[in-house]
Amino acid sequence: MSGADLGHPLQLGVELPVSAADPGAAVRLARRAEELGLDLVVVADAADDGGATGAIDGGGALEAWTVLAAVAGATEQVEVATRGLRLDGRPPAVLARAVASLDHLAGGRVTPGLAAGTDGDDPDDALDALAEAVDVLRGMWAEAEPGPLVLEGRHHRVLGAPRGPSPAHNLALWLGGTLGSADAAAGARTLAARVADGWWLGAHDPDGAGARLDAVLREQAALDAALTAAGRDPREVRRGLVLDAGSTGLGGREAAAPGVAVVDDLAALVLDAGVGTLVLSGADEPALLSFAVVAAAVRDRVAAARAARGTRVGTVRSAAVRAARAPGIDYDAIPGALVGTAVEPGDAGYAAVRSTYLRGGRPGLVLRPGDTAEVVDALAYARAQDVPLAIRSGGHGISGRSTNDGGIVLDLSRMAAIEVLDVATRRVRIQPGARWGEVAAALHPYGWALTSGDYGGVGVGGLATAGGIGFLVREHGLTLDHLRAAEVVLADGSVVRVSADENADLFWGVRGAGANLGIVTSFEFEVDEVGDVGFAQLVFDASDTEQFLVDYGATLEAAPRDTTAFLIMGPPRGGIVAAQVMAMVDSDDPETIIERLNPFARIAPLLQQQVQVVPYPAVVSVPQRHTSEGEPVTRSGMAEHLTPELAADAARLVRSGATPFFQIRAAGGAVHDVPADATAYAHRSANFSIVAMGSSRRRIDAIWDAMAHHFHGTYLSFETDPRPERLADVYPGPTLERLRELKRRYDPEDVFRHNYSVAEPPAVVL
Ligand SMILES: Cc1cc2nc3c(=O)[nH]c(=O)nc-3n(C[C@H](O)[C@H](O)[C@H](O)COP(=O)(O)OP(=O)(O)OC[C@H]3O[C@@H](n4cnc5c(N)ncnc54)[C@H](O)[C@@H]3O)c2cc1C
Repeated sequence: MSGADLGHPLQLGVELPVSAADPGAAVRLARRAEELGLDLVVVADAADDGGATGAIDGGGALEAWTVLAAVAGATEQVEVATRGLRLDGRPPAVLARAVASLDHLAGGRVTPGLAAGTDGDDPDDALDALAEAVDVLRGMWAEAEPGPLVLEGRHHRVLGAPRGPSPAHNLALWLGGTLGSADAAAGARTLAARVADGWWLGAHDPDGAGARLDAVLREQAALDAALTAAGRDPREVRRGLVLDAGSTGLGGREAAAPGVAVVDDLAALVLDAGVGTLVLSGADEPALLSFAVVAAAVRDRVAAARAARGTRVGTVRSAAVRAARAPGIDYDAIPGALVGTAVEPGDAGYAAVRSTYLRGGRPGLVLRPGDTAEVVDALAYARAQDVPLAIRSGGHGISGRSTNDGGIVLDLSRMAAIEVLDVATRRVRIQPGARWGEVAAALHPYGWALTSGDYGGVGVGGLATAGGIGFLVREHGLTLDHLRAAEVVLADGSVVRVSADENADLFWGVRGAGANLGIVTSFEFEVDEVGDVGFAQLVFDASDTEQFLVDYGATLEAAPRDTTAFLIMGPPRGGIVAAQVMAMVDSDDPETIIERLNPFARIAPLLQQQVQVVPYPAVVSVPQRHTSEGEPVTRSGMAEHLTPELAADAARLVRSGATPFFQIRAAGGAVHDVPADATAYAHRSANFSIVAMGSSRRRIDAIWDAMAHHFHGTYLSFETDPRPERLADVYPGPTLERLRELKRRYDPEDVFRHNYSVAEPPAVVL
C-alpha cells in the first residue's frame, strides 16, 4: 500500500501563528485562508516540536485550544484542527466536552489532533496515558451509551462522568506530529494504527523535495505496516504533512510565481506517497497568498491524475463500521457534503439517532443535511437505494414513522434556524428541525408566540404539516393556519416555494398532508402577540366520570376563546378516577384568569390546584432528549361535543384499564373560523380531539371501534391504526380526492408514504 495514492479527499491548509506578541495573527490568517478557499487551518500545541517545521517555542505562545476556539468563532467554512495537542494538564474528560462543544459551535468543523504528553520521563508511560485518554474521549462522546462513563486507568480515572455531548459530526481523531526518539515515534505509530483516524507525519526534510518524498515514503510504509498488523485497512487513516514556508521555498519571494516543480513535488506527495492533507507552516499573509495559487494548481493536478487513473476518492471507514452496514445501501456513494454528518450503525453516535421519542428503529443510515441543497442530494441518493426512507424533523411522530429498520432516515435536526423576517408583520421563518420549545423561547422576547402543541420537545416539521393543536388553539387556531409560505423539496428533487400565490395547490395540501407531498425545508409563519399567560394545573376527583366529562365539555365550549384546556385521565387508583386538566388563559391579569377558571373548578371536587402567571415558553420548554423501543398504540377521534353517550363510552374505556393515557384536547374556537376546504386539515367543526394510548392494540381497538360512531374523523397526528379505512377518517372524501390528484402529480411513485399515504390503491404504510 505504501507509495500509493490512498484516495483521501485532498485538503490544503495553513498552520496558524500562536505568538502572544501578536494575538490577533491567528484569526487574521485563518480568515484570509478561508477567503482564499483553503480547506483547513491548524493550531499546533506550543510544546509540539513540529520537527523542522513547527519550530514553536513554548514561551510566549498562546494556549492552542483557546486559539482554535477563537478561530472557529471567526470563520464559517474552513475546517479547524489541532496538531500535537498534549494531554498533560488537559484532563481528557474535560477535553472531550471542550472538543464536542466547539464542534457544535463551529457547525461540525473541528478535528482534534492529539499527542502524548511530555511531562513524564518515560515515553511508554506517556503513550499509555494517551491511549487511555483516547478511550475517555470516545467514551464521553458516546452520549447514548447507558450510564455515566467509568474508566479506571493507570493515568486517567473517570468515576461516573455524565457522558456527552457527542460531537456534531463524525469527528476524526488524529495523532502524531511529534518526532521524538525513533522508539517513541514507533510507539505512537502503533497506537495510531489501533485508534486513530488521522496521522500527522513527522517527516520533514529541508534538503530538497526528493529527500522529503523518500522520508515520507519510509514513514508511510511504517504506518501501513502497523495498520496492517492491527487488522486495519491503511486507507482508513488520513495522513497529513506540514511543509515549512521557509525551507520549501513556498514562503519566499520566488513563491509569488510558483514553478511547475513546486506543484509537481506537492502533487507527488499526494499521488505517490498517500498524503491527503498538506499544511503550510510559518507563513505570513504574502506567503499564504502564494500558497493559495500553488494549492489551486495542486488540486487540479491531483484531480486530473485521479480521474485518469480512476482513483476512488473518499475516506474508508473502519472495518468495524463497515461490518455493521446494512444491505441495499451503497455507502460509498453517499454525497460528499453529507459524509461528515452521516451516521451508520457502527458509529459512536448511532445510539442517539436510531430511535425516536416513541419508536424503536435500526436504520442502516441516518443522513443529516444542513441545508436545502443537501436535502435535495440526500433525497436523490436515498431514492437510488433499495431500502425504506423516513423523514424526521423532531422525531416525535406518532402517526408518522420517522425511523425504520435497515432503511435511510433523512434527519432534519441540523436545520433548526428560527429567524424574524419582519417585525411589523410578525413574520418569522423556521426550519423544520427546530423544537417548539425553542420557537417559544425565540419569539418570547418580541412579545410573540406561535400556537403549537403542549410539548416543547415536538419538532416543527411533523406538527406544522399535520395541524398543530396547542394551548392557544381556541384563540389562535391551528399552527398551520398561521403558515403563509413554505419551501418544499418534491420527490423529483425540485425545490418549490408554496403560498397563496405560488403553487397554491401544494400550499393547500402541505397544510394537513405535508408528509405526503414532499419535505418542507422552511416554514414562514405569521405569529401572534402573546405576553405572559395564566397556566393552571387542576386535578379533579372525576370518579363520576361520565358526568364529569359532560360538564367539562360544556364548560370548555362555553369558555371565551382566550381559554384552552387539555385533559388527561387514567384508570382508577384507590377507587378514584383522577382527571388532570391543564388550562391556559391568554391573560396576565389574575382576576381574568380566576374568572375563566372558576367554572372549571365547580365541575367536581378539586384534589390539587396550581395556577401561575408565566411566560409562554415556561409551559412548552424543551425537555431532556428521550428515545423508546417498540411501537406506540393509539386511537384518535374528533368530536363536536362531549355528549352523554360519548362520555359514557369514554368512562367505560377509562375504567377498563386499556388506556393509561386518555386525553381530550380542545380543538375548536378559532379553528372553526377557517372553511373546511381551505386546507387539507378538514375537521374544522370539531371542538375536541380525543386520544387513547395503550399497550395492547387488540384491547384498544375492540373498545374504540365500538365508539367510532361518536367521532367525525380523526386527527392524523394521533392515529396509529394501520387498517386502510382509517385513511378516510384522516382525510374525508373531497379532501382525499384532492390530495390524490396532488399525489399523482407530485409524488407518483409514493416516495413519501410513511404517514398515512393517500396514494391509490389505498395503502396505509405506517
Ligand atoms: C409527547 C408528544 C406531545 C404531542 N403534543 C401535541 C400537541 O399538543 N398538539 C399536536 O398537534 N400534536 C402533538 N403531538 C403530535 C405531533 O404533532 C406529531 O407527532 C408530529 O408529527 C411530531 O413532529 P416531529 O417533527 O417531532 O416528528 P417526526 O417524527 O420527526 O416526524 C413525524 C412525521 O412527520 C412527517 N414530517 C416530519 N418532518 C417533515 C417535513 N419537514 N416535511 C414533511 N413531512 C415531515 C413525516 O411523515 C414524519 O414521519 C405530540 C406528540 C408527542 C410525542
